[in-house]
Amino acid sequence: MNLYIDFGGTNFRYSFNDGELFTLKSVDIELVPFLESQINLQQDIRKIYISFAGQVKNGKILSSPNIAIQNLDLKTYFYDKYNIEIFLENDLNCAAVYEHSRHKNADILALFYIGTGFGSAFVIGGKILRGKDNIAGEIGHTPFRKKDLKCGCGRDDCLELCVSGKALKGTFEHADEATKKEFLEGLAFAFHTVLNLFNPDLFVLGGGVVKNNPFILDFLKEEYNNSSFKAVRSVLRISVSDIDDAGIEGLKIVSKG
Ligand SMILES: [Zn+2]
Repeated sequence: MNLYIDFGGTNFRYSFNDGELFTLKSVDIELVPFLESQINLQQDIRKIYISFAGQVKNGKILSSPNIAIQNLDLKTYFYDKYNIEIFLENDLNCAAVYEHSRHKNADILALFYIGTGFGSAFVIGGKILRGKDNIAGEIGHTPFRKKDLKCGCGRDDCLELCVSGKALKGTFEHADEATKKEFLEGLAFAFHTVLNLFNPDLFVLGGGVVKNNPFILDFLKEEYNNSSFKAVRSVLRISVSDIDDAGIEGLKIVSKG
């Protein structure tokens, strides 16, 4: 059987084949020991699919701004030791592919996920936008405003330091006015940047912060109405992702293609 995992900054979800989805806290997970314990418990795991909140390439986790793992060659380790194949993909790429499968007529799909961090991904002409190092689309790590914090990527001025669950330190509602203002300014900056770079026909929003703050959808619709070239822009579909396991569902699609 197959083991499917969605390893996010906050939640760690997993399921066997199409079975029940189990949720654990990501901070409690040590990935290699977890996988080895499942291999020993289940005996018949053939392949492990992982949607991971970080930079991945060729079965290797390179880094993650929100999870303490770097330079981990999962593919080689599990193949050599257990003869089990690992399929690893960035979590937002998986979510974007899942959303694309639901909106097949979207030629340029942009996805923003605001959860623990601020992630984004793009599916253009049916393909994930990857870039040379498989890290294209990391808009959350675009320099925006210098902060007294260090981002997981190494800089101290990333959008993610203003636009994320971490930046709010709790809920949007309870954040102070300066934090709220910076959050919305940063989000608008990211949104307009993507509009101008890619001219998407579908914008999908997801993540806990979006789900808990429905006004974000209206805020971005309003931003769209006031965007540059508004006279020539046609209607933009903006929607909120409605499932929690877009990562796992997307993983199933990406791994087949
Ligand atoms: Zn960063």
